[in-house]
Amino acid sequence: MVNWFNKLIGEGNKTCDDEDYVANNALPFYLIKNSALLCDDRLKVVHQFQKGVELQLQILRSALNATSAVLLWSVPETGDVSIYALSSQQRDNIRGVIPFGVGILGALKDRDHISLAPYRSSSPAIPYYLAPHPVGSFYGLTLGDRCVSHNKARDFGILCVDRVSTDQWTLMQQQLISATGEQILRSLALSRDLLFTDIERRTLQLVFDGLKTLNSGLDMKSVFLAARQAVGLIVSADIFAISLIHEDHHQFCYIAGTDLEDDSVDKDPQLYVLEDSLVGQVVKYRRTLPEKPFHRGRAPVVNGLKLFDRYCSVLVVPLLQDDRPVSGVVIIAANDENLITRNTREMLEMVAAQVAIKIDLARSHEQIQQLVVTDTLTGIANRRAFQRAFVAMSERARRRGGSFSLIMCDIDYFKRVNDTYGHSFGDVVIQKVAKQLNTIVRTGDLAARIGGEEFAVLLEDTALSGAYEVAERLRIGVAELQLFSQGVKVQVNISAGVSVFPQDTDDREKLFNFADQALYHAKEQGRNKTVCWNASR
Ligand code: GH3
Ligand code: MG
Ligand code: MG
Repeated sequence: MVNWFNKLIGEGNKTCDDEDYVANNALPFYLIKNSALLCDDRLKVVHQFQKGVELQLQILRSALNATSAVLLWSVPETGDVSIYALSSQQRDNIRGVIPFGVGILGALKDRDHISLAPYRSSSPAIPYYLAPHPVGSFYGLTLGDRCVSHNKARDFGILCVDRVSTDQWTLMQQQLISATGEQILRSLALSRDLLFTDIERRTLQLVFDGLKTLNSGLDMKSVFLAARQAVGLIVSADIFAISLIHEDHHQFCYIAGTDLEDDSVDKDPQLYVLEDSLVGQVVKYRRTLPEKPFHRGRAPVVNGLKLFDRYCSVLVVPLLQDDRPVSGVVIIAANDENLITRNTREMLEMVAAQVAIKIDLARSHEQIQQLVVTDTLTGIANRRAFQRAFVAMSERARRRGGSFSLIMCDIDYFKRVNDTYGHSFGDVVIQKVAKQLNTIVRTGDLAARIGGEEFAVLLEDTALSGAYEVAERLRIGVAELQLFSQGVKVQVNISAGVSVFPQDTDDREKLFNFADQALYHAKEQGRNKTVCWNASR
């Protein structure tokens, strides 16, 4: 990719006898700096136009017997001008970028043309020459935006001609210069329209590609990754983050960036207040901020996090869906101050709208998934989740050469509870027992309801003595539950059977049966008991 823009505005005093000069100055009008939108093919077309202008200058120079015919064009947002095209016998002696107003150009600040004949040694310098050289007469004509005296005017040209002859410029010669200027303006307008139409088409293509990427994932994580990829097609930001709103706070669920130690952070547990922050304003006003590419407001981007304030450019795009409240924000930041343009803003907003929908879908998907693995009566894991965890745990233990234990529990004489106090009280008992079991097991272990009043507990990295101890804690924990039906205390107990992987067996099915048999023995031995399979034989 030709780094044309930096060269265009950067290398002022370069002579222009090499081919690079053409590439550096190929765009004589304000254009978004976005490498994703400009490819070499497009620049080739622009160069063709530039060649055309050079040809016109060559004809003009020959017709006037001039030394140089030069078209200077304004450099966006700098107030400088640079050579866009030229035809000259003095190519080695010509510089690229010139501050507007220097030398003879100063005279063009307030008028549309200047005619100097004869040109004297005391006349203002011709600033496109690096070193003085003999000039007999000079003619300069402004093109485009007439308001050139305004320093910030960013889209105007100056057509300059100089020659050795000291003769006055005739009316015909002046008309020829003027007509060439008109023709150049017309062809530049055409090249601009062509390029902008093409950029619009490319913009749509990029957004479309980005949205396609977004369609690939269903779960939250894939949506975040796809969103990052989609945004990456549009801008190359140093930080990309998604933060979701929780009432008057927001929480980062995804941060990725070249400057972060771990490239991406899935979830920052911290909640940040919306108030007094740029994110807060975006949520309040439901629109992308800041208006300018950089944020120099008094409020930080995120209240309580300095990360984003270090960057030259930042953009916070709301995640909007219909007229619902803003559900979150996408934040991008970069060290490149020219990262964000009007065009990229619009593209990012289109992508953000899709991200909002996808996050919403992913949320419902997660909720459904949650329902699928959760027992509806008790809220703890169901049989299906137990089976998954059982497989995962046994494979992990096998891989690491570790152990794990399985405890099967069953409420004693539960039929009697149902018969005496009613089925709905029975349900409450099942709920309370489930809750108790779930509270007692460590995180990383799993308590699941695998049948009516049957529970299974998986203990990660736990051998026999540890498992027996936990089973006893579960049994005692249930026995200590204070359950009342219409003021009457109801004593509930469980029995437990324990089997250990791989000490008892390394076969999953057998391990399950062994725990079940141990439970059966516990029942046989009078209930409210824990029995380990290897002790029950
Ligand atoms: P044991 O000590 O041998 O386990 O005796 P038990 O009465 O608990 O044995 P059994 O397995 O025969 O009885 C279980 C009862 O649990 C039968 C069934 O009606 C009841 N049950 C199963 N699921 C539910 C439920 O979701 N809610 C209620 N209230 N009762 C249930
Ligand atoms: Mg029972
Ligand atoms: Mg039972």
